[in-house]
Amino acid sequence: MAIEQTLVLIKPDGMRRGLTGLVLDRLESAGLQLVATRMVKVSEELAREHYRDLKDKPFFPNLIEYIRGKFHDLKHNQVLALVYEGEGAVALTRKVAGATNPEDAAPNTIRGSFGRVTTKGQFENVIHASGNVGDAEREIKLWFTPDEILQPIYPTTSASNGKSAGAKAWAK
Ligand code: UDP
Ligand code: MG
Repeated sequence: MAIEQTLVLIKPDGMRRGLTGLVLDRLESAGLQLVATRMVKVSEELAREHYRDLKDKPFFPNLIEYIRGKFHDLKHNQVLALVYEGEGAVALTRKVAGATNPEDAAPNTIRGSFGRVTTKGQFENVIHASGNVGDAEREIKLWFTPDEILQPIYPTTSASNGKSAGAKAWAK
């Protein structure tokens, strides 16, 4: 299997409920190596770009509010952005995360253990994990500049969004 890097976000519910250490522990225990971290106050632009493939979904407006910390009492509306590396890191991280809907997620997964569906139908599922290698590359370049990653493995010149050089600007 190939060495991959993948993006993880500890979402505002995970931050608010003090699950940061637990998430790091689960991912580290799965054999993944942490190669970048950043605390981010998520702008509307960054949120919309991150979830751009979902922009036509009915849950999109609430998803943007959720990832921006609008539903949680956080001083800085922050998320913790992480890049993990390892063999088959993308699929492995998705496995540790569990299914999107916390009600469907296996009990030994992060989302199965700690996620919830709110009365408004929002899936508060603790973490984001890139869905495939293409998304991982795009998302890592959106949230991080190459110098913030110990060893960037995706070529910077072929950024699908053309914004890798200025990725930091999105998160200001
Ligand atoms: N989501 C939701 N309701 C849905 C589908 C998705 O609230 O019916 C939220 C949920 O927080 C999810 C995010 O939108 O993590 C992104 O959706 P996606 O289908 O990409 O799931 P993921 O890749 O996060 O498992
Ligand atoms: Mg997804």
